[in-house]
Amino acid sequence: MKTAIQIENLSVSYGNNLALNMVSVELVTGELIGIIGPNGSGKSTLLKAMLELLPYSGAIQFSGKSFKEMRNKIAYVPQRETVDWDFPISVFDVVAMGTLQPKKWWQKLSKEDKKNTIKALEEVGLTGFENRRIGNLSGGQQQRVFIARALVQNPDFYLLDEPFVGIDIQSQTSIIELLKRLKTEGKTILMVHHDLSDAAKHFDSTILLNNELVAFGKTAAVLKREILEKVYPNLFIV
Ligand code: ADP
Repeated sequence: MKTAIQIENLSVSYGNNLALNMVSVELVTGELIGIIGPNGSGKSTLLKAMLELLPYSGAIQFSGKSFKEMRNKIAYVPQRETVDWDFPISVFDVVAMGTLQPKKWWQKLSKEDKKNTIKALEEVGLTGFENRRIGNLSGGQQQRVFIARALVQNPDFYLLDEPFVGIDIQSQTSIIELLKRLKTEGKTILMVHHDLSDAAKHFDSTILLNNELVAFGKTAAVLKREILEKVYPNLFIV
């Protein structure tokens, strides 16, 4: 099994608050990997450190290389709530932005870029939505637009921050199906997930955080009562 992402002794602090303490995991190529843990357990911080959006100590490598070297091969789908949905931009333009990296946004789209944008929208089931304003879509549709933007980048690594928050079950199912297909193409997908609901059963491996690594391994081995009750003490009251 090939190593996709290696994280060694990762620590992140916000002032005196130690958000992640010496986290080490080795993630395998072609897997869908979930990051779970209670609120404030460092899930988003882990993704942000991987994207070099904040300072950290430790080492993170993608296929044995640094983020800088692999930047074009890494796609990030941020939490929906962090996006300004009033921004007047069309669905097509949001997705097309994915083709522009690492070029500049003012460069013209090539025919190929346009074709790939249309194809990505088709893959997430949004053909016909090209000219709609992004702010006018449902939560699930907005999430699919951002996944389409990641698709056109043709990355090896997908980092998704809580893609299922506030979206309909149909969008969730279609996203999961798409991610499963991407795995078969050798893509590695890392997803922050906020609860232990149904979606978790689709993860090949799971990282359980509580500001440190509580457990990591095959999902069935991690989502066990004796492990989960360490971090979710109220879950098993009855
Ligand atoms: P999660 O994604 O699991 O909810 P976060 O990674 O957002 O957790 O947060 C981990 C810890 O770091 C929490 O204690 C949170 O309050 C703190 N934290 C996150 N972002 C900031 C920030 N920008 N400034 C200060 N503290 C932060």
